Amino acid sequence: MICAGNWKLNKSPKETESFLKKLLIAADQLDQSKFIVFPPALSLAKASEILNGSKINYGCQNISTVNSGAFTGETSVDHVKELNCDFVLIGHSERRSLFAETDDEVATKVRLTLDQGLKPMICIGETLKQREAGETKNILKSQLLASLEKVSSTESITVAYEPVWAIGTGKVAGPEQVNDVHNFLRDILIKKFDESFAAKTPLLYGGSVKPTNAAELAKVENVDGFLIGGASLQVESFIQIYRNSN
Ligand code: PEP
Repeated sequence: MICAGNWKLNKSPKETESFLKKLLIAADQLDQSKFIVFPPALSLAKASEILNGSKINYGCQNISTVNSGAFTGETSVDHVKELNCDFVLIGHSERRSLFAETDDEVATKVRLTLDQGLKPMICIGETLKQREAGETKNILKSQLLASLEKVSSTESITVAYEPVWAIGTGKVAGPEQVNDVHNFLRDILIKKFDESFAAKTPLLYGGSVKPTNAAELAKVENVDGFLIGGASLQVESFIQIYRNSN
């Protein structure tokens, strides 16, 4: 199982250094290639320095829709590439809700990421209101297809299903809900591309994943790993999620 940690706006370069040194020791006998961390942009250079030579993956939490120019305060995917990042997290629900990120912008960021040879991790998810209105599948389908607008079947992506109502709330989607959605997402990928594209695309679940619920969720067919917020901020809980789900 893949364990991806979204640190959000937490961990300075110094804190990143001490976390990753500890993680390298804790993951020494584990499959390091299954770990991904998403530090804040200013801590990526430190991550690049500490993780150089290891198999632990790291990536940026967001990039700009443009590569360079007069765009004060933006983060260029070219610079992310120079830091040898592996992944870019795209379309997290906090980006969509707090920064008004649109499906079109998500599709552009996915394209820019692939053009740099990096791996996009595309986040999709329904709000509680949408779930209660029975719109979950329509919303997920439209978010996923929109994000794949500029992707071809020979390329590789990762999808993270994160119900918005489960992010940072302590409410976790039940195994049956996750099973239903992940089967649905796999089918969309088959229809849009083909069986082999769908089979090679990791489908992660995110939303209040903890050491205590990871084992049960990991048993769900079509769950290939987790995107973890709060519980990825301590090495102990992050590693314990990996252990409990593998
Ligand atoms: C997230 O922010 O992507 C997330 C899943 O957060 P949490 O695990 O804290 O719910």
